Amino acid sequence: PLRQRLLVVANRLPVSAIRKGEDSWALEFSAGGLVTALLGVKEFEARWIGWAGVNVPDEVGQRALTKALAEKRCIPVFLDEEIVQQYYNGYCNNILWPLFHYLGLPQEDRLATTRSFQSQFAAYMKVNQMFADVVGKHYEEGDVVWCHDYHLMFLPECLKKHNSEMKVGWFLHTPFPSSEIHRTLPSRTELLRSVLAADLVGFHTYDYARHFVSACTRILGLEGTPEGVEDQGKLTRVAAFPIGIDSDRFIRALESPQVQDHIKELKETFADRKVMLGVDRLDMIKGIPQKLLAFEKFLEENPDWREKVVLPQIAVPTRTDVPEYQKLTSQVHEIVGRINGRFGSLTTVPIHHLCVVAPKFVNEAAETDVMRSTICLDRSLDFHKLCALYAVTDVALVTSLRDGMNLVSYEFVACQDAKKGVLILSEFAGAAQSLGAGAILVNPWNITDVASAIAQALNMSPEEREKRHRLNFKHVTTHTAQEWAETFVSELNDTVVEAQLRT
Ligand code: UDP
Repeated sequence: PLRQRLLVVANRLPVSAIRKGEDSWALEFSAGGLVTALLGVKEFEARWIGWAGVNVPDEVGQRALTKALAEKRCIPVFLDEEIVQQYYNGYCNNILWPLFHYLGLPQEDRLATTRSFQSQFAAYMKVNQMFADVVGKHYEEGDVVWCHDYHLMFLPECLKKHNSEMKVGWFLHTPFPSSEIHRTLPSRTELLRSVLAADLVGFHTYDYARHFVSACTRILGLEGTPEGVEDQGKLTRVAAFPIGIDSDRFIRALESPQVQDHIKELKETFADRKVMLGVDRLDMIKGIPQKLLAFEKFLEENPDWREKVVLPQIAVPTRTDVPEYQKLTSQVHEIVGRINGRFGSLTTVPIHHLCVVAPKFVNEAAETDVMRSTICLDRSLDFHKLCALYAVTDVALVTSLRDGMNLVSYEFVACQDAKKGVLILSEFAGAAQSLGAGAILVNPWNITDVASAIAQALNMSPEEREKRHRLNFKHVTTHTAQEWAETFVSELNDTVVEAQLRT
């Protein structure tokens, strides 16, 4: 039988492109979660639609790139620099991203942002329409169109206007905030209305789904039902679909000679110290300064541990052209320096701060959040090294102030079947809903709480570690990215069938 075609629409394509000549391009495909997930889903034939992350002003270049991408089942949407600035840096990353993570705008930016709001929103709508035009051109009857993330909230409405028969799903990879937060957004109504045009709307957690439904009832005055949101008899299904990882890929990697070599090296580096690990993008949402302060407090209160523990903190630079992120980077450096000065000796320091640099291949404008981490190439630490780090870790520290899901916590668990280390996890990460039983949950704002969680984790009995690890490992290996994708798409198909039966 013919496989159903799936058009996956996301801001970024899962490829990095480098121009080699007037009409030649080098492409590198990402092996990230979502790509492998969809390759594993045999019932569907997936195609990707999105921005390639490069500015291609000339037609020769565009044609050549389109052709090269076609071989990878990718279809580009071309955006020029000006519009990327307004839509991507402006509306997406300066307005929606902080708002959805409950972070206020930086004080000095507040008025400027308020003033530029209209033009940035106009750019956002324009880009969404451009995406819709490309989808429209490639759409064939029966296709499923799956839109991803906060960059494309206006897309469902554009698509349905183009063709009301299209099966449209939309999934958000960030949190959806309380309706009290959403209602401060000047474009609150337009965005909600557009998302509701989709047949199925998905979130990582039940809480995010509930927030979305409340926003629709309170702001639009619509009716929320257990199934979703109803508007004059038309139902939009709203549900939670927690994402997972390709756990087998990590488990297999651990057996490879490369990872085994890295593990040996790391064991020598860290000698007989207990290893606590942090892996985060350098983003405000990750609570890195808070984590460092908690670690400092732990060292302060537990002098016996000072020589026996080390915290490698991997920090992946992101949105480096935004002042707010530059400020965070120097703040983190300062805190690390202070703590290392205070508790380090001539030969060792407690915090190994590894600010990994993006490889040259990766475009500067490359993206870096939840969606991107699963489909894009802008990450820098080599996969095998990352697996080795996860494997030698005794305690992982995830202290996000807000986080859609947080895949680092899943990846750590997948790599810990030998060691059975402890996961300290922020209750504000989506992952707390699924790994809460095995992890030690903390409020990252309460550094006393986090410091005692560190002590608890380091002193935990092997029996309890084993018990907690079992729970998490079972979850991570049974709730995979592949299963997530399958569930969403089949639910979307079912939703459309049910809607047809109702009318
Ligand atoms: N990661 C990576 N290279 C690094 C550090 C991290 O590729 O040097 C990956 C990591 O494996 C994970 C992703 O980045 O898949 C981070 O995803 P998460 O959901 O934890 O947070 P996000 O950065 O998407 O907000």
